[in-house]
Amino acid sequence: MSTSKLRILVPVKRVIDFAIKPRINKTQTGVETKGVKFSINPFCDIALEESIRIREGNKDLVEKIHAVSIGPTKAQDVLRVALAKGADTSTLIDVGEEEVEPLSVAKLLQKVVEKENSNLIILGKQAIDDDSNQTGQMLAGLLNWPQATNASKVEIDGDNVTVTREVDGGSDTLRAKLPLVITTDLRLNDPRYASLPNVMKAKKKPLEKLSASDLGIEITKRLETLKVEEPPVRQAGVKVESVDELISKLKDLKAI
Ligand code: AMP
Repeated sequence: MSTSKLRILVPVKRVIDFAIKPRINKTQTGVETKGVKFSINPFCDIALEESIRIREGNKDLVEKIHAVSIGPTKAQDVLRVALAKGADTSTLIDVGEEEVEPLSVAKLLQKVVEKENSNLIILGKQAIDDDSNQTGQMLAGLLNWPQATNASKVEIDGDNVTVTREVDGGSDTLRAKLPLVITTDLRLNDPRYASLPNVMKAKKKPLEKLSASDLGIEITKRLETLKVEEPPVRQAGVKVESVDELISKLKDLKAI
């Protein structure tokens, strides 16, 4: 059986930290980003962890793990974290404060795949800021590669990759040959923390900076956000002492 060395690409998005409760901005066009903590998107962290575990499982199998982020200059921070955890090299595609829709992200990633000669792409199944769940699928379409989404287990044997996917009420097991796009689900693994010595060492690892035009891609917008709203505030409930009291309250409210 032929065995390709893996050149893994891990796209990592900088998003508002998952533990923070987002607040809507005054103009109701999005969430407030000033003074808010940003981190690596949790599903991207899982994708990175999986690529590191693939290498730990078989050192000779992985030639390179390359992390890429599309975002503001500050997105360097998530790349440094990725480098500290185990990525070898990285690229920042600096788009300033511009929001980039999944199709443009996928087009930029396609260029990075060509540049890095990647043969396995592991992405998050979704970014927790826009919840699009589109980028991996669009990238697989642009590359005309097979895709296995929502992975909860990944096994590699030569050029064959077996992916178990979480589906309603059970699991779905797929096999595909490289090159392949995989998107990660929550239960795939528990990402590690970066150790302080590795954070220091990561400062010396390569971080290439490019613009979208360096890659020949024009970022276009196809969607317009009309309004972002908080969910309606729920009315406080009342406690009742007995079933009779419950029934009488429901009758008062004309609910029964
Ligand atoms: P989405 O389709 O926006 O829900 O994102 C799915 C996955 O695509 C994320 O978990 C990332 O792996 C990747 N991705 C999306 N946007 C970006 C970005 N701006 N930079 C790097 N990776 C991204």
